[in-house]
Amino acid sequence: MKTISTFLLLSVILISQTPDLYIPQPIKRAYQKETRSYNGVPGKNYWINEINYKINASVDPITKILDGQLSARYVNNSPDTLKEIVMHLYPDLFKEGTVRDWQIPKEAVNDGVLIKKLSVDLKEYDVSDTSRSISRSTTNMKIKLENPLNPKDELLITTEWSFIIPEIRPVRTGAYSDTSMFIAYWYPKIAVYDDIHGWDEITYAGTAEMYSSTASFDVEITTPQNFVVWATGILENPDEILSDKILERYNQAQESESIVNILTQEDIHSDVTKSEFSAWKFKAEKAPDFAFALGKNYLWDGAIVKLKDRTVFVDAGYLKESVNFKEVVRISVEAIKFHSFEMPGVIFPYPTFTVFNGRGGMEFPMIVNDGEARTYESTVGLTTHELAHTYFPFYMGINEKRYAFMDEGWAVFSPTRIQRRLGEYNPIEGRFKVQERQLENILEVPPMTPSFLLKGSHYRVASYTRSAGALFALEELLGEELFLKALQTFIAEWKEKHPTPYDFFFTFDRAANENLSWFWKPWFFEFHSAELNFVNYVNDNGRKYVSVRNDGGLPLPIKLKIYFTDNTEKSISVSPRIWQSGEKVVDIELNTDKEILEIELGNELVPDVNYGKRKTLKSDK
Ligand SMILES: [Zn+2]
Repeated sequence: MKTISTFLLLSVILISQTPDLYIPQPIKRAYQKETRSYNGVPGKNYWINEINYKINASVDPITKILDGQLSARYVNNSPDTLKEIVMHLYPDLFKEGTVRDWQIPKEAVNDGVLIKKLSVDLKEYDVSDTSRSISRSTTNMKIKLENPLNPKDELLITTEWSFIIPEIRPVRTGAYSDTSMFIAYWYPKIAVYDDIHGWDEITYAGTAEMYSSTASFDVEITTPQNFVVWATGILENPDEILSDKILERYNQAQESESIVNILTQEDIHSDVTKSEFSAWKFKAEKAPDFAFALGKNYLWDGAIVKLKDRTVFVDAGYLKESVNFKEVVRISVEAIKFHSFEMPGVIFPYPTFTVFNGRGGMEFPMIVNDGEARTYESTVGLTTHELAHTYFPFYMGINEKRYAFMDEGWAVFSPTRIQRRLGEYNPIEGRFKVQERQLENILEVPPMTPSFLLKGSHYRVASYTRSAGALFALEELLGEELFLKALQTFIAEWKEKHPTPYDFFFTFDRAANENLSWFWKPWFFEFHSAELNFVNYVNDNGRKYVSVRNDGGLPLPIKLKIYFTDNTEKSISVSPRIWQSGEKVVDIELNTDKEILEIELGNELVPDVNYGKRKTLKSDK
């Protein structure tokens, strides 16, 4: 009898702990190993490995060759004995024979990364093609260890490498001219070894972005005279490099809350740096990656923003032809305050933030690469979107290769209020309009589809639009206060770690004190689209209601606008909770005695596959 009741008790606990979401085997194992837990908190056995990089690199702006030496101390905090080390050689994206998500012109193909030397714990490896202890395929290099790395043990990797900075088909990084380059995906980077998949061996094919270990960086970059280098982290030696006049302004900017023009139009033909070559030294702590930019004849603005116990230095390096970049430091300062005190209400986690006027729009820790946006509004949109990535993926260690929606969704959603305040426009409307256009030709796939399998519009709709729509609906479902509390809990518990979507779902379940699977499933796991339609309007002896059918299947909020014959209006907003019970058609009471002329369904903040087409019902008249 006793045995049976214990068994019953155990099964009840087990059932209540196992949520009804599909969980793949490797993630289930993490729960069994207690590195993660079903309530969303990092498990008692959670670990991350530790990396300290020391890098020296030089860039020749004419030949576009980058030469570097790297040493990395790697600490194995995992319970596993590691027999190999996996490194990413991202410039191999341009190597002959590499798998790429798109075609590149023949002239853009090169030899990829040339590894000149490699040693582990000072023991030299044979780097020739015939070496059997090193294997390279696509953008990965595997090093077989002669002595396996035991738990709690560490090793030192040193290497020398070079590659040609891409000019012809720059993707997120590249040389835009002899005087303007953004350099990322550039150093032999130790892959993440995590509690779920072990080594991250997903190769870089151009679309899906990064997955990075939090590391410390001590980097020295040598460039010719009068180039300025902007990078991840704090510049350690401005006084050794900058000419007196520029140094004075740079130091002034380090203390000024109003913008200082460190380099102006007048300085373009004078000496910016002191010597023929400069070695720029940067340090960054707890950063998931390191990127840098160099520019000659660039303008440079800077200012600080003071947050509770932290000061952030914000700067922008831009081309003299730029129209909108002179606003970028101000926009960034406002966005940093907004994120620190409003959404998510977590102090900006790094000491610096730089916006470099390169091309496109791509985030890296503490530095972003932005092209010139067409208007002031789109400059606000681009700057704040890339800045928002500071939290997701960087502070939160998101695996973007698998779960791009966990960073792009947040980067679309979280800055919308500051975008409206600064830019006086609705950034979401544009996003949903794009989705409608894309959906005419493509299939909308669930955001839980591994990102590295997706390309083009499939990737964009799943990672940006659908997930942002889900976050808006979630905020409406929980209410702003509870939503923010859950988000802050998630950030506090998972910062500088590697949360999966399940850690996010379960943290929100715990904060909301309810099982939200009915919401997570349609938004993230299943094939659906955003489509609500009117069924009919009923006036039953003065009891007036409309029926709305959920043709797309996503739990969306219902927004109604009622136009009366007396020229007045009334808005009704219904929480996405109305779809919780799984009904396909719901009735909405209009609670009015007035004569109704027309009722409109949806608005510019709710995604819809028929976005922009008015959905109305004629009624009493
Ligand atoms: Zn983004």
